[in-house]
Amino acid sequence: MLRNIEIAELLARASDEHEGNKQKAARRASRHALAWPTEVADLVSDEDRSLTELSAVGPWVARLIHGWLDAPPTDDLEPQSDLRRDFQTFAQAKERVAGSPEWRTDLQGDLQMHSVYSDGSLTIQEMAMHALDLGYSYVAMTDHSKGLHIAGGMNEERLAEQGAEIDGLNAYFESEAIDFRVLKSLEMNLSPAGAGDMEPGSLEPLDLVLGSFHSQLRKKEDQTDRYLAGIRNPDVNVLGHPRGRQWNFRLGLVAEWPKVFEAAAELDKAVEIDAHPNRQDLNRDLLELARDAGVRISIGTDAHYNHELTYVDIGLSAALSVGIPRQRILNYMSADELVEWGRATRR
Ligand SMILES: [Zn+2]
Repeated sequence: MLRNIEIAELLARASDEHEGNKQKAARRASRHALAWPTEVADLVSDEDRSLTELSAVGPWVARLIHGWLDAPPTDDLEPQSDLRRDFQTFAQAKERVAGSPEWRTDLQGDLQMHSVYSDGSLTIQEMAMHALDLGYSYVAMTDHSKGLHIAGGMNEERLAEQGAEIDGLNAYFESEAIDFRVLKSLEMNLSPAGAGDMEPGSLEPLDLVLGSFHSQLRKKEDQTDRYLAGIRNPDVNVLGHPRGRQWNFRLGLVAEWPKVFEAAAELDKAVEIDAHPNRQDLNRDLLELARDAGVRISIGTDAHYNHELTYVDIGLSAALSVGIPRQRILNYMSADELVEWGRATRR
C-alpha cells in the first residue's frame, strides 16, 4: 500500500520534473499531503469518495496519484532530498496516537497559535471555543511581536489591548463555570543574537513567552551561540520551532544540539515541537537528543485557522515515537502549574 508520506515524496519529485502551473500544483500538493487526514489508499477504496476532496488535489494531481496507486513505482521512495527527511504525515500521526489514546485525552492544552492580533484568521474567542471543543483546559495565545512586520506583529500597546480582551474572556469562562483559560502569551521575535524585540516591562503580565528566530535561517555555519543566547534570554520560557525548517523549502539551522538542550535543561526552560505538518520542528532525530538531555518539551500547533488545532497529533506522535516522558511535556501540566513555571523561569 502506497502511504501518504510516499505520495508526498512522489509529488515533490514530480514538481521537479515539470514547469509552470504543473510544477506549482505538484509542489503544493506535496506539502498538503502531509496534512491529509486519511491515507489516500483508504480513501480510494471507497467508491463514493474522490481524491479531489483532499486539499490541493485538482484533476491533474488526482490523475498522477491514481497512476501511482494503479502501478506502484518500483524505485526507492525514501526522501531524495534532506529538505524532506524525518517528516511524518498527519494520517500516520493520528494512527500512532490512536494506539495511546490517553496521550490525547489527558492533554491539557495547545501552546502555540495565532489570532487576528497578528496573522491568524480567527478571533481569540473563536480559537478558544474551538480549543474548548477539543477538550482542552487552556491554550496559549501566541501572536507575533512587533519585529515580525510580515506577520503583523504586535507592539507593546497592542499586546496590552490583547491582554485586556483575554481578561474579559477568562472572566466570562469563570462566570459560566467553564474550566477553560486563555493564557497570555507571545511568540516573541528573536534577533540572531538572541535578543527580544519588546520592552521587558510589557511582558510582565504574560503567562508564557515563546522566543522564535525568523531571520537568517539559511545560514550554513554552526548556530550554537545563537541558541544559547536565546535560551539564556531572561524573557523567554520556550524556544519556538527551534530549527526553522520547512518541508521541501528550508533545511533549518545547525547547532551542537546536545549542548543547546543541556543549557535549556539547566535553566529549566523548554524547547518546542511545532506540530504544524510543514514544520515538525523539533523533528524526531533531535527529540531523541532532547529526551536524553531531560529538557522540557512544549507542543504547539502554530495554528492560524481552527482546523489546524487538530495537528497536535503530529506533535504527540513525535514525542511518543521517541519516548519523551509525559512529565517533561508542558502540555500535561495544569494551567496553574504551567503559569507558575512560566513565571519562575523568567525574570
Ligand atoms: Zn514563528
